[in-house]
Amino acid sequence: MTNHDWETTNILICGCGPTGALLSAYLGQMHISKVVLEKEANITTDLRGIALDEDGIRILQGVGLYDSVYTEIGSCMGKFYFISGSSTNLMKQEFVSMDYNTTYCTYRNAKGTERKIRARFFVGADGKTGFTRKRYLEEKGVFMEKVTDVFYDETWVALNWEITLPTPQNQPDFPLWNLGYTPEQVYDLFFPRNFCFLCNPNRPAVRGRFGPPNDRLWRFEFFGQPHEDRYHMATREMVQKIVFLYITHSGSQYGLSGDVQFPEDCIDIL
Ligand SMILES: Cc1cc2nc3c(=O)[nH]c(=O)nc-3n(C[C@H](O)[C@H](O)[C@H](O)COP(=O)(O)OP(=O)(O)OC[C@H]3O[C@@H](n4cnc5c(N)ncnc54)[C@H](O)[C@@H]3O)c2cc1C
Repeated sequence: MTNHDWETTNILICGCGPTGALLSAYLGQMHISKVVLEKEANITTDLRGIALDEDGIRILQGVGLYDSVYTEIGSCMGKFYFISGSSTNLMKQEFVSMDYNTTYCTYRNAKGTERKIRARFFVGADGKTGFTRKRYLEEKGVFMEKVTDVFYDETWVALNWEITLPTPQNQPDFPLWNLGYTPEQVYDLFFPRNFCFLCNPNRPAVRGRFGPPNDRLWRFEFFGQPHEDRYHMATREMVQKIVFLYITHSGSQYGLSGDVQFPEDCIDIL
């Protein structure tokens, strides 16, 4: 085979998922030639990433893509709530909430006067014995662990739902219409805006909206016990048993005698 038979490039990347695509973009910024080989002709429709951590955000910012990702295929997740216990009431009072928009702090100035200050970000740069770690995080049970001591190998089941707004026309028997609720209010009640960690020791779960608000996409992930079969856990029967509890409200909440379940017809499992 002669040299003419070979295409030539500096870097050959196999796979154009997030890793390959972003590596390609960074190499492009550095004017390094590359070719990406991707076996799929189209973007995958298998929904996976619903949240980006700080590194993910920084990496997208670095190639100038964050603003379009944030507005065209996603949105801010709002507050993060941590709810304890095994209750399925998603409106239960959280024991910790994190708001990515504003932090609220009090401090004492040199004269000992207490002052209140709010900021977009709070940076805990007060060291390992400082207030942030010792008197804020550890008091809430958040401890620094060595990553090498922690090995997590558990099965979680992730569901993606696309919600259609229930209306008096498509769900005439839904009981909340008589109480004056609007379709948007019903949606907000059953699929609350903020992201939530459900710290039920028997069945930890995560739930929240994702994607552009108008798409009304909902993710529910739950823990599978070691003896449970992961495929069985993903069946409609098990999803109804485990997840529908969270979209069924006690009628007493509304002064009604029976429970109120969000209409199943308005849920499309993706
Ligand atoms: C249910 C679920 C939920 C998740 N939620 C989140 C989340 O909320 N936030 C988050 O940050 N991450 C999340 N992840 C993880 C995230 O999806 C992965 O970390 C990420 O997709 C890894 O990117 P990657 O580019 O390394 O691999 P992949 O995304 O797997 O991409 C690999 C690419 O290589 C291509 N390929 C494979 N073989 C070949 C071949 N022989 N030739 C050419 N191309 C090939 C594939 O078609 C694909 O496009 C989730 C994952 C799952 C499964």
